[in-house]
Amino acid sequence: MSTESIDTASKELWENAKKFFMMTLSSPEERSQAERYFGMITSVAREGDTFRIYTASDFAANLIRSDYVNRLKGAFMMSGYPATIDLIVEVDQSYRPRVVITPQPTPQTYAQPGYVQSQPQVSSFVSTLPLNEDYTFSTFVRGPSNSYAVSAAEGVVNNPAKSLYNPLFIHGGTGLGKTHLMQAIGNELRKRHPHLAICYLTSETFLNEYVNSLRNGQIESFRHKYRSIDLLLIDDIQFMAQKKDLQQEFFNTFNALKDNHKQIVMTSDVAPKNLPSIEERLISRFEGGMVQEIDAPSYETRLAILKKKSEGYDVKVPPNVLEYIASTIKSHVRAMEGALTRVSIAIGAEPGIILTTEKLAYLLKDYIEKERTMKKLTILEIQTACAAKYGVNQSDILSHDRLQTLVTPRQMAMYISRKLTSKGLTEIATAFGKKHATIINGVKAITARLNVEPQLKKDLEEILNQFGYRLSDIKD
Ligand code: ADP
Ligand code: MG
Repeated sequence: MSTESIDTASKELWENAKKFFMMTLSSPEERSQAERYFGMITSVAREGDTFRIYTASDFAANLIRSDYVNRLKGAFMMSGYPATIDLIVEVDQSYRPRVVITPQPTPQTYAQPGYVQSQPQVSSFVSTLPLNEDYTFSTFVRGPSNSYAVSAAEGVVNNPAKSLYNPLFIHGGTGLGKTHLMQAIGNELRKRHPHLAICYLTSETFLNEYVNSLRNGQIESFRHKYRSIDLLLIDDIQFMAQKKDLQQEFFNTFNALKDNHKQIVMTSDVAPKNLPSIEERLISRFEGGMVQEIDAPSYETRLAILKKKSEGYDVKVPPNVLEYIASTIKSHVRAMEGALTRVSIAIGAEPGIILTTEKLAYLLKDYIEKERTMKKLTILEIQTACAAKYGVNQSDILSHDRLQTLVTPRQMAMYISRKLTSKGLTEIATAFGKKHATIINGVKAITARLNVEPQLKKDLEEILNQFGYRLSDIKD
């Protein structure tokens, strides 16, 4: 083999490894940083199991050595090269500096496919935010974790504004399908009744429009718009907390719509009674129709969701890959989708690639780590889940009442917050409105009781399951 063809082969291997490496980076910042570092590489050369990377400067060599070498080994493995490869980064002594302008990657180069936003069709009414046409009932997978919520949503579609389902309030953790289900109602009703004025918005958009209309002296047209709607879909209602004027305005809108037999659907990350700083009278309005929860999906549901999503992809994702994702990414459907997109990009880039567990672990490292560190769990979610488990309110968790019926859920919430979030003691103490020592004592008390009280252990397990975790995820 001539030196030239060896060089070409090394170059190809490098380009391929780089491609896989770039796929594992999830943020545009990381990607442009990597592009910058790699832009400082002058040449590469493979000699058996050693791969040399030459850079323009000491500075670049150090950066690549410290930040990238280990992760690059995985990328070589993805390209079919042994993971035991010896990667050596050296300064290219023959290199003479010249001005190089490295093109920045355009943001969409590795971006995950975005949603295709639809335009409203028939009714002349323009929804505040467009509905996503992909969010339909047929693309939504039903499972034990969401079947009541789906039934309620179907109830709305079949009997809009019937008081049993009006309002419909759907709550649950992030990424579990609330927005999808809510928009499925909108899409289906629009299909069946194209003349309906359907409005989808978030409580934040409602706030912004409200503030703007006040500022521009257009509050009357704002009111008129929102009171002439046939179907109001209002997402993430929790953002209304602490905004008293907005709550008053929404209360009036709500009543006007309800009085006119118009359908209202709302979503939130917590149940109405656990919405922090929302007026009592609004909460009782929210609870006046049907309240349904969406839980974290089981393994079977996760797998079914992945199968359904992958049907829409150009490449065929093998079953073992879907199973791997369903068993490693549990808490978040959105993260599952991100993982699926990434493996399908890898398959598209290298048709016929065999994605072993080892390769998948490399490719999806950040998703898996995120799942492990469980950063997504908020203390509020934990408090709410513990309160619900014991039939009390989240505000009871924050109170100073020492009734045993309140102490157990409160200490359980402290225990889970300490064990499953990355929050420090100070942050946890603040979130509970307690002293550090109280949190430490609470964690200790639960730890001791878990050893002798099987029922408490079962309670803990059930709360953890709601978040997609098991007892074994709790570390000492
Ligand atoms: P939330 O509003 O609860 O945070 P989303 O509705 O935005 O969650 O869902 C996140 C992603 O997960 C969306 O792409 C959605 O299509 C998908 N998803 C969630 N649950 C399901 C399900 N049961 N079937 C199909 N897709 C789902
Ligand atoms: Mg949402």
